[in-house]
Amino acid sequence: MTVLLWVLLLVLVVAYWASLKIGIKKHPDLPAEEGKKVILIVVDSLLSEPLESLMAQNKVPAFSFLKEKGSYSNRMVSSFPTMSVTIDSTLLTGTYPDKHRIPGLRWYSLKEKRLIHYGDGVFPTIKSGIKTVMNDGLFHLNNTHLSTQTRTIHEELAVSGRSTASINAIVYRSNHMKDLAIPWPFSKIQTKAPDYFVLGNFYRYMSSGFFPFINYYGVNNRVSIQHLVRMIRKDQLPSFTVVYLADLDHESHKQGELSSESVVQVDRQLQEVFHAFGKWDEGLEKCVFMVMGDSGVSRIKNDKKEAIVDLDQTFSKMRVAPLGSSGPTDEMALAVNERMSYIYPLQDQVELQAMVKELKHDERLDLISWKDKDWVKVMQGGSGKEMRFRKGNTFVDEYHQQWDIEGDMEVLDLKRAPKEEAIGYGSYPDGLMRLYAALHSHEGKFLLVTIQPGYEMKGTGSPTHVGGGSHGGLHEVDSYFPIFIAGTKERPTYNRIVDLKDFILRQM
Ligand SMILES: [Zn+2]
Repeated sequence: MTVLLWVLLLVLVVAYWASLKIGIKKHPDLPAEEGKKVILIVVDSLLSEPLESLMAQNKVPAFSFLKEKGSYSNRMVSSFPTMSVTIDSTLLTGTYPDKHRIPGLRWYSLKEKRLIHYGDGVFPTIKSGIKTVMNDGLFHLNNTHLSTQTRTIHEELAVSGRSTASINAIVYRSNHMKDLAIPWPFSKIQTKAPDYFVLGNFYRYMSSGFFPFINYYGVNNRVSIQHLVRMIRKDQLPSFTVVYLADLDHESHKQGELSSESVVQVDRQLQEVFHAFGKWDEGLEKCVFMVMGDSGVSRIKNDKKEAIVDLDQTFSKMRVAPLGSSGPTDEMALAVNERMSYIYPLQDQVELQAMVKELKHDERLDLISWKDKDWVKVMQGGSGKEMRFRKGNTFVDEYHQQWDIEGDMEVLDLKRAPKEEAIGYGSYPDGLMRLYAALHSHEGKFLLVTIQPGYEMKGTGSPTHVGGGSHGGLHEVDSYFPIFIAGTKERPTYNRIVDLKDFILRQM
């Protein structure tokens, strides 16, 4: 018996040791490239506070260095919905979801008749089927869902013969076929990625330590920084490197804010990057450095009953499509992206207007909108005030986009001087275009609903963050994030994430 136990233990140790090694590839030899390189570090959920207080107290030397040698803004506008997959797709393609076609972390595909989600928690993943979620997140997102009509920064540079790197970003499409290391019993996945490619333990060039499962399967700051530092030391930086630091997102969801310690920790990791160049200034001579967040965060109230609008409950009289495959008798589907939701009628007799009626009196809801021929209709939750808009030529916004607008402009907090055709944005930065793009991000008839700051929606097993933090909405609390740019005198045309692709390509 004891011998058997020892053998079993030995087998487990060997299996564990083998699992630490899977996905580790040989470092690719990237050709040395001329000119200035761009390093873009996305610190998931980096917020302007406590960052700004820490800079004022001289406690974050790397961030302060970037600000002093370059520029800092806390008013960068994200994409919409403010969910990582949609934001990252906007960053890399320079388009909103009407063009890149990634509508959110969750959305309903009419073609496949199922709720698609790229992974948002253990239980929804088990319910949808682990294999399905893995395929959506690790294969379809980059290889079939992200529109081929738009090119990523990686693809643009590959066309001109330049190499690029993507380290722990979930959206990364380029044109090199890579075999992801998928653990047994799931089958192999091939994906189109950049020359230098790291995606957790699925594809990497270094070990990610002894506890990969606790450390988000290698999608963590330490692994990302290790890979970047090695490239700098070996003088092997490609033209463009994007690095994701995912750790702060977990904390912002749990606490609704960031602690000083964790921002100081990220600063230490940035210092490691600058040290790798020898002198910090050398980093800025060789590279354009961009360090930024990706969205804001709304602090969710502590009282669960008040904080959460339960859409399953609102539509309890209807048959809502479950996770996994939906059946022919399902009447509607809910795709909840934290503080925004898509709501779909699945039968002809289910009217959008009947659904609006169920929602419009809830004062916690912010915007309820839908397409009406070429118009977009928007209603304010609670008050029921309405406006509509379409692409046209009556008004010009801050970004030189032209619109026809009718009804109560207060609904989208649009600012307009009397008799002027120029309009400005208040609480919903780039609100017209971002709302328009989300409503045109995929096929079908649906409502798009957002919720006031402090609240969150729930439906079909979506995760909630009572007493913590959440994003997804169009509101400025979800939308603004901080950005540092150093190593160049140029700046993006506008302070929007959708304008960064052009800016990055201009630097080479
Ligand atoms: Zn998040």
